[in-house]
Amino acid sequence: MLNKIAKTEVRVQLFVFFPLILIIGLHWIAPEFSQFLARSFPIAVYCLLVLTISLSVLMRQWRWLYSLSLIASHYIVVQNTLQQPLENPQAAAIYYFLPIIFSVLILGLEFIKTPQLPTRIGFAFLSGLFLLPLCMQWLGLESILITPNTPGFFIEPINETARYSWFFLLMVVTISLSGVAFLYLRHSNNQEYSQFAAWFSIMLFYIYIEQAHMSGWMTLAATFCLLVSLSGQMLKLAYIDELTQLPQRRALLGHLSRLGKRSAVTMLDVDHFKKFNDTWGHDVGDQVLKLIASILSKTRGVKAYRYGGEEFTLVFNHDDPEIIAERLEYIRARVANYPLVFRQSSRPKDHQTGKQARGHNNVGKILHVSISLGCAIRRPGEHTEPLLKRADQALYQAKNAGRNQVTFADQPLARVDLKHTKLS
Ligand code: GH3
Ligand code: MG
Ligand code: MG
Repeated sequence: MLNKIAKTEVRVQLFVFFPLILIIGLHWIAPEFSQFLARSFPIAVYCLLVLTISLSVLMRQWRWLYSLSLIASHYIVVQNTLQQPLENPQAAAIYYFLPIIFSVLILGLEFIKTPQLPTRIGFAFLSGLFLLPLCMQWLGLESILITPNTPGFFIEPINETARYSWFFLLMVVTISLSGVAFLYLRHSNNQEYSQFAAWFSIMLFYIYIEQAHMSGWMTLAATFCLLVSLSGQMLKLAYIDELTQLPQRRALLGHLSRLGKRSAVTMLDVDHFKKFNDTWGHDVGDQVLKLIASILSKTRGVKAYRYGGEEFTLVFNHDDPEIIAERLEYIRARVANYPLVFRQSSRPKDHQTGKQARGHNNVGKILHVSISLGCAIRRPGEHTEPLLKRADQALYQAKNAGRNQVTFADQPLARVDLKHTKLS
């Protein structure tokens, strides 16, 4: 099941590459169309860049600005330079060095802990990203690499053989690095995928460099990849709870608004959690919430949400009381029997709470938590608000009846008659 979740996540992440594949496909299928569109590229690319930059600023996702500034400066340099034939030494120099600079900067973004923009170092890094490719052009590469006095000191005007060798080398490097990156990115997040997509689209452009208008296509694709990824992140921020990685209340409300006639809702609450936090520390409490979330997301036939605090909501898309009772009882027993090993590293250090947890005696101690669950099966025509209220009432009944149990609404104290594993 865990594998399945991981695979689904990877599939979702790969969506980032969709604009790139679409644009390359379009270019191959209808080259005339791409020639036609190429004329409007500067404005289209800049509009998209501005849109993506605005979105990342609005979302306060400063890290995105680094990639975007890199793409923007790359695009300006390429647009200005590659209108000339590659036999021109200046264009040839750009042809050699821009992919290297671009790769080094994007690798730097990947491996150096990206500085935050409000800091001076962060701002300097951002300026560097934007200015480095531009400086290559402003300073005049020919004056650094190919001086008039020593023609061909570093770069000869590119000839046919060199061009094909360069093309072949770039292709091999791009394909091998892509393979390595794919392996590395298997467990990465959306943002790392988009950074790779941006790099990959720019590198593909160098392979097609004979056609200058591809620079527009590829910059457009790179920006699109970032935009798709940014929107994905926006949805994640809005809908996924950071601690438990479960969908949160906003997503629950969406689900409830399209709830089927035959359905059921369960409220789940951790027992004596305040005391647990006070005794063992808030960070151990957080681990408990993560554990419960992981059990819930691995349980088949249940859609779990973090309602808030230490409360979760489970939605069933059927109303078979026996199956529901069996699932809920499974979850309850799984949590109650799960041995949590108390580790030193997670001990609270300086807070008033967790006093009892401090001290070496408790290290390695096995802790247990329990949960109470209240379930309401949807009545014909019942709105979701009263349904949730009934589930909440059932939860209170479970609490009043001694906790660590499952209770169904409108069946006072009718505890589920399944094998009840006691808290050890
Ligand atoms: P009961 O069995 O009646 O539910 O008792 P309780 O102590 O669990 O109930 P109460 O609602 O009073 O306490 C909820 C506690 O949950 C308070 C707060 O410390 C804790 N809590 C809420 N959200 C979080 C969280 O994100 N992390 C941690 N560690 N604790 C949380
Ligand atoms: Mg509570
Ligand atoms: Mg509680």
